[in-house]
Amino acid sequence: MALTDPSKRLEAIPPYMFAELERKVAAKRAAGIDVISLGIGDPVEPTYDHVVRAMQDAVAQNDNQKYPSNRGRSEYREAFAGFYEDRFGVEIDPEDEVIPAIGAKECIYNLSFAFLDPGDVALASDPGYPVYTAGPLLAGAKAELLPLVPELGFAPDLTAVPADVASRARLMFLNYPNNPTGAVVPEGFFELVVSFAREHEILVVHDNAYSETTFDGYVAPSFLQTLGAMDVGVEVFSLSKGYNMTGWRCAAILGNRDAIASYWRLKTNVDSGLFEAV
Ligand SMILES: *Cc1c(COP(=O)(O)O)cnc(C)c1O
Repeated sequence: MALTDPSKRLEAIPPYMFAELERKVAAKRAAGIDVISLGIGDPVEPTYDHVVRAMQDAVAQNDNQKYPSNRGRSEYREAFAGFYEDRFGVEIDPEDEVIPAIGAKECIYNLSFAFLDPGDVALASDPGYPVYTAGPLLAGAKAELLPLVPELGFAPDLTAVPADVASRARLMFLNYPNNPTGAVVPEGFFELVVSFAREHEILVVHDNAYSETTFDGYVAPSFLQTLGAMDVGVEVFSLSKGYNMTGWRCAAILGNRDAIASYWRLKTNVDSGLFEAV
């Protein structure tokens, strides 16, 4: 073994898909082909002016230049709780049902480390955000793909999950409005998810990156609106896409308080929180 060989854990994951896509796109472009990239996406519009101005003030304040609180300031937690109440009619206790995340990516990744052991399984919506599979693999667990079925409105067929897979599953990653299919959650699907999660004791992680990025009058729900969802799940809400803030790394995890406590416990060992100016 060479001194620069990566760990077996790192060897277990394919080269990060977006990096691989970039390489392929560059090769096609070099060959003179006009490529439309469906790879990593950034909003075209800049961050709103009032947000940028508030940030300019915030970075100048000495309080914000210190180590952040890993649980987030109460204003931050209260702002998310207030938003969930107004926007989704979901009641969130700002004390322990919400904490900041340094982007949805960090949160989704670290949830695998908070909940999976070797031999455990995470169910990953497929096609889906690459971290739904890379996170479990890096944590030494397995990722089982949950194919999105066009005939079911791009929902997975939960009845098709083999019993031995369901019994080893500890996490399930879902995402609506969905990237990359653009599908919105089919009527009644979140209810099926709650009963499936109850039956098999699986923690649901709903990646809500796009609820504020809809059109034609469609208003996306939160998974947490579903009856019983707070018992079996968490939702990751990100400002990246909906608020043109991909570079700011501003997100939160909301929902089941025990799950959030474990995520927080892991996180205090891994990072030092979200820049409080944000
Ligand atoms: C962009 C995207 C993310 C990443 O969000 P960040 O908050 O910027 O880390 C997560 N999930 C999906 C489905 C996305 O499209």
